[in-house]
Amino acid sequence: MIDVLSLEYHELRDILLGLGYERYRAEQIFSFLYKQKVSSFDDITVLKKDVRKALAEQFFIYRIEKQSVSSSDDGTRKYLFKLNDGVFIESVLIPMNRGRFTICVSTQAGCRMGCKFCATGRMGFKRNLTTSEIVSQVVYILKDNNLKTANVVYMGMGEPLDNYNNTVKSIRILSDERGLSISKRRITLSTAGITPAIRKLKKDLPNINMALSLHSVISDKRSMIMPINETYPVDEVLDELKDFPMPKRKRITFEYVMIKGINDTKEDLKSLVRVMSKFRCKLNIIPLNKHDLLGTKFDPTPLDEIEAFADYLRNKGMFVTIRKSKGSSINAACGMLATRAS
Ligand code: SAH
Ligand code: SF4
Repeated sequence: MIDVLSLEYHELRDILLGLGYERYRAEQIFSFLYKQKVSSFDDITVLKKDVRKALAEQFFIYRIEKQSVSSSDDGTRKYLFKLNDGVFIESVLIPMNRGRFTICVSTQAGCRMGCKFCATGRMGFKRNLTTSEIVSQVVYILKDNNLKTANVVYMGMGEPLDNYNNTVKSIRILSDERGLSISKRRITLSTAGITPAIRKLKKDLPNINMALSLHSVISDKRSMIMPINETYPVDEVLDELKDFPMPKRKRITFEYVMIKGINDTKEDLKSLVRVMSKFRCKLNIIPLNKHDLLGTKFDPTPLDEIEAFADYLRNKGMFVTIRKSKGSSINAACGMLATRAS
């Protein structure tokens, strides 16, 4: 059986052509899968009954199973999904301004990168998600909330570039105009910084928004909190990102989780100015979210100090935002996704 939600449009078309179907069938099916969000071939009503039946014998439509949803006061909804082998993952729906929404998706159950401040990193690694497991988080949440579209951020559990092929395929499927048609301008991939994968991504998927989990530009310090920096040092990652083909008028995002006494010093500010001035970028400061997996080792920088840090950079002409933590009361904020149910 072929997992149809794991297929890019051209793959579906070629398989259908091979099976002797007309060229326009692929477009019809793709549109029903993503625009109507059907969960069974029987619901693809433009097809004759016998065609629907024949297709259902060759293909299946992956259905992600909702285990629970928790909502917080600010409207954030955290979905706990159960995959076919019993593994749990989480996705988050976040309300933005002007009636827009952002869906935060997971690409792995757990994560191999082991960042010291991150709940997902602390829980270890279970497995990569398939393309359809990634795609169906978006399809499910849109349908469940009666939404036509949303921004998508690859900032849930896992390191997207450590599950390279399925991540790339899922973005191509979500952005395909014959389906959900979520513009690549509205899709952001966040990475801890895997240099060779970033190099490849420039060719495979230009014009998506890139976010780098920077957290420190001082290499030794970064290695202390992000072991991946030993393999792919920050300078090389930044070098690779310099000519990343971003969507028009968009800036690369550098994420910066502020940890008290670790990356909030004068020295950090000075080196940040040096690095940021070489990019068309914005710094997104995320106050460290505390969670039980963190222990007592790390504390958030007090908010007034974060503001002063941001102002210093702004005075030097840098773009800086401070992320208001959404959904922290339901552990849906950054770095707090770690499935307890499993
Ligand atoms: N693996 C990717 C994407 C998922 S993490 C990456 O690391 O970029 C999404 C963001 O949440 C990253 O910037 C990550 O560094 C941040 N994050 C992790 N733990 C956090 C915590 N405890 N508090 C605040 N942000 C955290
Ligand atoms: Fe993985 Fe990102 Fe968490 Fe690091 S911050 S452990 S890369 S999910």
